[in-house]
Amino acid sequence: MRLCVGDKEKEGDLVRVGIPRTLSFFTYYPLWKPFFEALGAEVVVSPISNKALLDEGVRETVNDACVPIKLFHGHVAALKDRVDILFIPRLVSIDGKVTLCPKFLGLPDMVRCSISGLPEIIESRLDLKKGRFELYRFMFRVGQRITDNKLRIIGAIWRARYSFYCYRKLLLHGFTPLEAFPLLEKGIIPPPKVNNGEIKLAVLGYPYALYDDYVSVNLLKKLEGQGVSVVTPEMVPEQMMKKASKKLPKNLFWYYSNRVVWASIHYLQDKSIDGIIHVTAFGCGPDAMTNKLVELEAKQQGKVPCMSITIDEHTGDAGVDTRVEAFVDLLKRKKGIL
Ligand code: SF4
Repeated sequence: MRLCVGDKEKEGDLVRVGIPRTLSFFTYYPLWKPFFEALGAEVVVSPISNKALLDEGVRETVNDACVPIKLFHGHVAALKDRVDILFIPRLVSIDGKVTLCPKFLGLPDMVRCSISGLPEIIESRLDLKKGRFELYRFMFRVGQRITDNKLRIIGAIWRARYSFYCYRKLLLHGFTPLEAFPLLEKGIIPPPKVNNGEIKLAVLGYPYALYDDYVSVNLLKKLEGQGVSVVTPEMVPEQMMKKASKKLPKNLFWYYSNRVVWASIHYLQDKSIDGIIHVTAFGCGPDAMTNKLVELEAKQQGKVPCMSITIDEHTGDAGVDTRVEAFVDLLKRKKGIL
C-alpha cells in the first residue's frame, strides 16, 4: 500500500514519516529531513535516547545484539504508533567501495521480526557500488512512495542535496552533528571553530556512539567541561581520509570502521593532538578489529596516549568520569599544565 501525499491531503493531514534518532541519523538526517519535507511529508523523529528507550530495545532485541542495535529497536518502538511510515533504508554501501556492518543491512528485517504492530516501512536499498547516480535513483524510488509528482521529487532531491552539502561543511568547520543541526535550521554556516582547549584530543568512534549523549555517557560534554578541545572522524576532510587509507596494506570491510581507523592515522600525524580516546560498543564484532588497529597505529606513530572506553547498557557516569578525568590529568601533567 502506498500512502500518497494527495490521499492524506484530502483528509487534511500530512504523511508522517518516522526517522529513528540513531545509527545513520547522525550521518544522513540533514539529507532526509529536507527531502521528505519538500515532498510534502511531516518528519517525526524519535525522542532523544534515554534509559527507557534502551530498556525497551533490550526487551525487543536478540540478546547478542550490540548496544546501538538494541537502542535502535527502542527508537523504532517509540515511533511506531506516531507515524504512517517508518524510514529504515537498507544501507548496503554509502561510499561505493565497502559495505556497512551487516547489522545495518538487516535492520528492516530485524525490526519486523522483533516488534509487532509496525506501520509501513520504506526499506529501499542503497548500494552506491552500483554507480555514482545510485543515490539519486534511490531517492527517486523513496520519493515515489510519498508522491506521484516526479517534478516534486526532483525538486526535493536538489533541496536535500544542498542541505547535505551545508551539513558536511559545518562538520568540516569543527561542529559536531548536534551543534550543526540547529545551525542548518537557521541557514547559518559560521567560520571554522577555534580550538582553545588546554589539550586537544581525537575522540574516535561511530557517529551513533559519539554523538548520542546517552550512549557516550555525555563524553564530549565532559571533555569540554575539562577544558579539552575535541576533534572527531567527521571533522576530517575526505582527501585526508583517502590519504590515510593508503597507509594501510589492507582496509577493513566496513564503512564506519574504516573511517575510525583512517581518522586515527590522520590525527596521529597531527602534532597538536595530545591523545586519543576510542569509544567502542559492547557486542560490536567490527570494533574488535578497529580497536586493535587504532591501538597499534597509536603505538607505531610515536606513543601517543590512547584510551578505549567500551559502552554497554550498564555503563554509568561514575566509571567513565573517573577514567576520563584520570586520562586528561595524565595528559595535562605530560604537558606541564598540572
Ligand atoms: S558496527 Fe558494531 S556497533 Fe555498529 S551496528 Fe555493527 S555491530 Fe553494532
